[in-house]
Amino acid sequence: MSQRRLPPPDPPACLLRLRPSSQKGGTLIAEAVTERAEHERRVCDPDGYRPPFCANCNGTVLHVHDYRERQLRAEPGRPVARVVRHLCVACAAVWQTLPAFIARHLWRSWAVVERTIAGTSAAPSPPPAPSVRWPRVPERTRRRWRSRLRAAALYLVRVLAASGEEAWARLARELGLDATRAELVAAYAQSTAAPAGQRLATVSALVYRLQPNVRLM
Ligand SMILES: [Zn+2]
Repeated sequence: MSQRRLPPPDPPACLLRLRPSSQKGGTLIAEAVTERAEHERRVCDPDGYRPPFCANCNGTVLHVHDYRERQLRAEPGRPVARVVRHLCVACAAVWQTLPAFIARHLWRSWAVVERTIAGTSAAPSPPPAPSVRWPRVPERTRRRWRSRLRAAALYLVRVLAASGEEAWARLARELGLDATRAELVAAYAQSTAAPAGQRLATVSALVYRLQPNVRLM
């Protein structure tokens, strides 16, 4: 970060959504749910994922609307996760709540993504998974993920700097304007002691909380 070098390339346009979503409701990330077992427990409990209030109208009465299946490619275990959606009685907004371990734009769990990019600064060591057979992620996909992590973290650094949280603002200053996304993941994972397998999930959930229009990768 201190040595001189060329600035990293710009991230692909798909990682930044310029138009706000026009539909009522949307996606919430349950940041505490990092394990499949905890997700299964919550999704079976009508209150497990019920939002305390509607982010659209602040209404506090939300009912289970339906359940949907999310496909998870190259998953070592069951390749689908059941996801619950809640309906706000007051304004009819529909909120789906995803556990933090699902990389929603990548059709994978973050653990699979992290295993695939293991050996980079974003994931120095693969997540622990004894006696599990991991299906192969296609080479083109692996290259795409790695190139996204080599892209500029500039926009994300600005989001951290403007977050109003001193620890994240300090992290942004330390990273500087020429940091890559991999460096941001490494620095944030170190500051939060996020375990292997949950590093990308942790950073992605934070980014979504601070600025839902921008994606880590
Ligand atoms: Zn509402």
